[in-house]
Amino acid sequence: MSIAAGETAVVDGVGKDLYIGGAWRPAAEGKRLPVYDPSTERELCSVADASPADGIAALDAAVAAQPSWAAYPPRERGEILRRSYELISERVDELALLMTLEMGKPLAESRGEVAYAADFFRWFAEEAVRIDGGYAVAPKGGGRFLVARQPVGPSILITPWNFPMAMGTRKIGPAIAAGCTSVIKPAAQTPLSMLALAGILAEAGLPDGVVNVVTTSDSGGVVEPMIRDGRARKLSFTGSTGVGRKLLEQCADQVLRTSMELGGNAPFIVFDDADVDAAVDGAMLAKLRNIGEACTAANRFYVQSGVAEEFTRKFAERMEAQPIGRGTEEGVVIGPLIDSAAVDKVTTLVDDAVERGAVVRTGGSTIDGTGHYYRPTVLTDIPADARIVSEEIFGPVAPISTFETEQEVLGRANNTPYGLVSYLYTGDFDRALRVSEALEAGMVGLNQGIVSNPAAPFGGIKHSGIGREGGTVGIDEFLETKYVAIGLREQP
Ligand code: NAP
Repeated sequence: MSIAAGETAVVDGVGKDLYIGGAWRPAAEGKRLPVYDPSTERELCSVADASPADGIAALDAAVAAQPSWAAYPPRERGEILRRSYELISERVDELALLMTLEMGKPLAESRGEVAYAADFFRWFAEEAVRIDGGYAVAPKGGGRFLVARQPVGPSILITPWNFPMAMGTRKIGPAIAAGCTSVIKPAAQTPLSMLALAGILAEAGLPDGVVNVVTTSDSGGVVEPMIRDGRARKLSFTGSTGVGRKLLEQCADQVLRTSMELGGNAPFIVFDDADVDAAVDGAMLAKLRNIGEACTAANRFYVQSGVAEEFTRKFAERMEAQPIGRGTEEGVVIGPLIDSAAVDKVTTLVDDAVERGAVVRTGGSTIDGTGHYYRPTVLTDIPADARIVSEEIFGPVAPISTFETEQEVLGRANNTPYGLVSYLYTGDFDRALRVSEALEAGMVGLNQGIVSNPAAPFGGIKHSGIGREGGTVGIDEFLETKYVAIGLREQP
């Protein structure tokens, strides 16, 4: 099969309507939403474009399925997740191609995301049977305490375009394991991976209505009525801080439980005592994973003056050597950014820094022709007031500043309202612990350029979010604690 035929086949293989109550149905108003390939800028296909009424229909289905799903044996909930993990794992190549077509990242990265996404199902398949409770004697004697953990209830799950499958399984996995039904709304630009996932969950035996998928070009118009309806009991959101803040306001009205995985502005710190080659390897991962379009992307590099030139030279050489092209091509590392607005944002941030005095060591420009490409870029001599220091870049651009002391760099690293992740390279054990503790972030990559792992608690502090996904605490976001006070009559 030629590549083009293979591409058509994976796109054709996905349901393109709304998935509600276990059935595929067109949007009530019959509208369609086009999906584009960011490398060719051509339309791949269209999916149903839901109206607010479709959103409420999906919520109806989730609400109807909630009581029986809460009563479903935990082991069987886990086995559905396990079967889904296996089905995804068997289809890594086709799911990866689908993801590359709609999002642009190179195939190797898409394969990595599909495996990472599947792993959330494997992890939460194991967690489904470990929901525990408690039984205790009241401190004064006599009464007893019974503590049970119950599903929160119907949940609204909203995901971004940058990790179209993993950001979904990181929510759907614990929701299913905990016994919550859900309505999931993927990003308008990358709905296909989530629709493929809906088909896999159905194939794995998930009962109708437990997971419902609504695709729409009118996210605000569809989500707000679902939140204000009053029957959903939880919102789990991954996306920008601005949209997260707006959703928190809407959720306040119904006092909804919320989980917020929001934006980042990660510092990447290299001390003089670090292994510079290992730091360059880590920097490549922290900067270029997902073409820099990751909430965990290193956004600001701080390198101590003794190793600054060596680090910058080696890093710039590696950045310059990365093959750029369509994600489906063998060996490509830098695919297109998601759209022209993303390229404009990166261009604006780089131009602003350069106008204020930054020096371009490599890159610094777009690529002529079709597709939203931006060259891997390294900037030095970054002025403190450059926008690139305080705004999320979301592209393959690394601004490097130098520093002299530990105290100075901590002040600069923490000088941001964000607090998702920080990276730190040092060979000194005491410093490693001291700085890890002092960094204001939910996660720290210590001599490591990637922190994401389904078995670890992912999440941020400050404006980067509320709550954690993954790890043993991930399921807590979908559980309520119920305490039953038991009166006990003493034996007459
Ligand atoms: P976004 O614009 O906030 O969109 C995220 C999701 O929210 C999309 O599904 C979007 O739908 C939807 N949305 C937008 N406006 C909405 C509204 N008024 N009501 C309800 N839903 C709405 O973010 P993005 O540009 O897709 O993603 C990039 C951002 O996500 C970055 O800031 C990144 O750091 C963050 N992120 C965080 C994490 C984490 O775990 N902390 C992980 C990945 C990404 P449409 O597609 O229709 O706009």
